[in-house]
Amino acid sequence: MEAFALIKRNEADIIKVEEPKLSGIYNAILTPVAISVCTSDVNTVYGSGSKKPDNLILGHEAVARVLEVGEKVKDFKSGDIVVVPSMTPDFHDKDIQDGNFLHAGANFSANTLGRSTPGVFAREFEVANVDLNLAILPEGVSLGNGLMCTDMVTTGFTGAERVNFGDTVVVLGIGAVGLMAICGASLRGAGRIIAVGSREVSIPLAYEYGASEVISYKECDITEYVLKTTGGKGADIVIIAGGNDRTFSDAIDMVRYGVGKVVNLKLFTGDGSMEIPKFSSGRGMSGKSVYMELGKGGRVRMERLLSMVKHKRFAPEKMITHIFEGFENVVPALELMKDKGNTVIKTMILTGW
Ligand code: NAP
Ligand code: ZN
Repeated sequence: MEAFALIKRNEADIIKVEEPKLSGIYNAILTPVAISVCTSDVNTVYGSGSKKPDNLILGHEAVARVLEVGEKVKDFKSGDIVVVPSMTPDFHDKDIQDGNFLHAGANFSANTLGRSTPGVFAREFEVANVDLNLAILPEGVSLGNGLMCTDMVTTGFTGAERVNFGDTVVVLGIGAVGLMAICGASLRGAGRIIAVGSREVSIPLAYEYGASEVISYKECDITEYVLKTTGGKGADIVIIAGGNDRTFSDAIDMVRYGVGKVVNLKLFTGDGSMEIPKFSSGRGMSGKSVYMELGKGGRVRMERLLSMVKHKRFAPEKMITHIFEGFENVVPALELMKDKGNTVIKTMILTGW
């Protein structure tokens, strides 16, 4: 079958591989109907993170059709159209009982698809523990809306989950993750949402999803702006969904003493450190908290997000700027996501399968 794989660092292409065989009684084999490329796929191919296996099949954003299920699967059957969350926790590990869903048993254990096990960019792929990990695409929810829930919505909303009524929130980045953090913060009752970014196509959407203002890091010093416009106090919460190696310390600089929270969603590539400035962290005594989050996964999470979409709380498909027909277009879609320019937020590839 065809699969889009990392050949070696900086090189990805469509290759031929064996179809997967069902490897567990709780698992299923699926075929993707609609897929999207994540900025994290770009980082897997072109970034300088941990070494990935050669010929790793990429991809973790898919709406798919179930082809075959294991004998113990209760709620899914061949033919079902399902939303596949990018994070598929290992619900059989005892760490789940500590509420540790994403790193149960091993670091990043939920983050397998396209990372440590074959991803969704293939004619067929396997998902583990499907009764706990897949969600039926509800009637009335479009492929695009379902597809955006797999990663972008859940990740942005994970950042927004710590927002309280009336909070002043800074969202660094107006790519898809940032836009969904804005949307989530708005739904959580934020008072003021300062969105940071410059991409032209994203700016009107940032307002539509709830930003009070959009400012460009290219045109002003964001930390100064946030401190100045909050009377020197800083924001209640800063959500990092883009930036560079300085962004982490900038976020600490611009968040309030005592109760301020920095929630990081960004993947920091390369080696080195994410620095915490001594002064604005009150020399370690500021009362500021830092959270480093993967987007939440699993079936119930997806069902809840899909319910919000179905009942018209928001429409994440508006972030899809490019639609392709035919699986082979995953190749140009990766290139588009690499150099987004001013016009790209998300792609959707209808596989035709
Ligand atoms: P993206 O489309 O590349 O968006 C990045 C945003 O950051 C853009 O708006 C960009 O500005 C902005 N930016 C760049 N430099 C900045 C700076 N110095 N200060 C402030 N903003 C700056 O990325 P995405 O697809 O939304 O993904 C965002 C991050 O989340 C990536 O690192 C991705 O790997 C990661 N991610 C994490 C998870 C998770 O589970 N935690 C899941 C999915 C993705 P412009 O507007 O000028 O382009
Ligand atoms: Zn992702």
